[in-house]
Amino acid sequence: MRCNLCQSKKTIKKLTIKTRDRFEIASKVNAKNYTRFWYKCNDCLVFFNVQKLVNKKKLQKISKNYFKIDFPNLTPEERFKNIINLTNKDSDNYYRVKRVAKFLSKTRKHSKLLDFGAGLGVFLFKLIKLKFKNRYKWNFFSFEPDISNKKIIKTNVAIKNIDKNIFKKKNYYDFITLNKVLEHIEKPIEFLTRLRSILKNGAIIYIEVPHIYGALKKNDSSLVSLHYNIYSKASLEFISFKLNFDILDLKIISEPSKKKTIYAFMKVKKNVR
Ligand SMILES: [Zn+2]
Repeated sequence: MRCNLCQSKKTIKKLTIKTRDRFEIASKVNAKNYTRFWYKCNDCLVFFNVQKLVNKKKLQKISKNYFKIDFPNLTPEERFKNIINLTNKDSDNYYRVKRVAKFLSKTRKHSKLLDFGAGLGVFLFKLIKLKFKNRYKWNFFSFEPDISNKKIIKTNVAIKNIDKNIFKKKNYYDFITLNKVLEHIEKPIEFLTRLRSILKNGAIIYIEVPHIYGALKKNDSSLVSLHYNIYSKASLEFISFKLNFDILDLKIISEPSKKKTIYAFMKVKKNVR
């Protein structure tokens, strides 16, 4: 089986899953002869999800509204408020905002930040309220195609949401955040290559993804059917090499929600490989 990230064939089957998860049940994946696998790549140390094409297609149909399966009785507005009202010590988002703000405060000029896959906009909501150094040098944008999420962003965050032609403006952004987005992308290098084209030289990209440590435990939330890839330090280093990014900071953390997460701040180098 070929690795989704580095294309290596040095991969090994690590886990066989024989029961459908809540997303597969909701998208009517057939229970009969159901199996999917998690493979590990021995070159870039990514874990990748191997599933039948027919099931993958069914899952893609629900992938943009998967939260409706987890929270069928909550309106998007209620979900937004639940997250916003978490105390700091219980909030993954709080620590993420602090991490990113530390980098943003270093800017010397007027700059543009894009939160790609903004979801309900909780990250931008908190970031904009935080009084960090040079806060007023930043302009904020979100990219979020889901209609109900877009409404929440419009009501609560009051920033410009871009929902199409996102790759049109080349060399445009100074900072892009990918908060738990990349694990939902099957071919990360192709995706990041496109994203790189809208980043300026010297811009920073923040990538936050589930770490493979979590995936070593059976039934870990990172092993859901909607995740294509789960990352290690070596996998993020492979990304930086392939995209010609410099890693400025990289850490593996345990979040308040108990998730094992890895994040990296990477700087776009001048020459495209
Ligand atoms: Zn690989």
